[in-house]
Amino acid sequence: MDNDKELTFYWKRLGKQLSKLDKETIKKIVTEYYENKAKVKDIVAKYHLNILNSKLVSEFPPIVTDEKCKYDDELMIVDPHSRDSLGLNREPYCPVCGHKNSPYCRCKNCLEEERKYFQGLRNKIRKTYLIPKEKISVEDLTLRDRLLLAAVLRTGLNEDTTKILGSKLEEGKLSPLADMNKDILASLVSKKIIVVDPESSLDAFVDEDFPETYYIYEVNYLLNIEDKDDNHNQLIETLEYPESKEFFLEPKVSLGLWRELALAECKEYLNYRMNAVGFKFNPGKKPI
Ligand SMILES: [Zn+2]
Ligand SMILES: [Zn+2]
Repeated sequence: MDNDKELTFYWKRLGKQLSKLDKETIKKIVTEYYENKAKVKDIVAKYHLNILNSKLVSEFPPIVTDEKCKYDDELMIVDPHSRDSLGLNREPYCPVCGHKNSPYCRCKNCLEEERKYFQGLRNKIRKTYLIPKEKISVEDLTLRDRLLLAAVLRTGLNEDTTKILGSKLEEGKLSPLADMNKDILASLVSKKIIVVDPESSLDAFVDEDFPETYYIYEVNYLLNIEDKDDNHNQLIETLEYPESKEFFLEPKVSLGLWRELALAECKEYLNYRMNAVGFKFNPGKKPI
């Protein structure tokens, strides 16, 4: 307790036993306890208090501080502490809303402020990653698109086939190389064949450039292909397993895709062997 300053008590909160006494007597008791260091059992006996010695301090009224609550301007209070714990100053709190001046405060006002903050972030994401009204028609997909999309769907589609999960794309093997995975997703997103799900976790977006930049395996993606027959399952099936005859119809493109994949697999194997003997090796991007 600060001896130089007259303490202001918050009289609305007082223990049952002390509330039977007048304010002056209570002030005397508090002074006897803190300043005169009187024994608790003597105080309890002197004022005929019907309480355990250990409960005396909890009967004292809280002390009003000069800190104000930012929500309702109420002066904050601190609960009284026992003489032994003088060093452990309790945190002031608002007697009206319970707010504490701490980033960890969970009072209803702080929770509401936090809710609004996160809602604001979500709205920004929704604005940036608007779900396009225009869907891409299956007929407009190139052979390459079809192959990449099939790989993405087979690796990342969730159980009810409504979303492509970034986490599943990371776990599963989309392609032999991490760089290639990135290129596949970038290509499908840039053509709006798949789009970033605006309800993806807030953590999936990079703080510095919020929400333009995102972690490719932390967001989820939505399929943006027109479902002409209004048969979602059928559409997914067709996209996951494109017919091989389509690839035979365009042998040049198919061969190109095969070479791309074969080269990636060679690089993967080379990296694997080099790592096994402790070499760092980056084959780099050379024309095929
Ligand atoms: Zn308050
Ligand atoms: Zn608060």
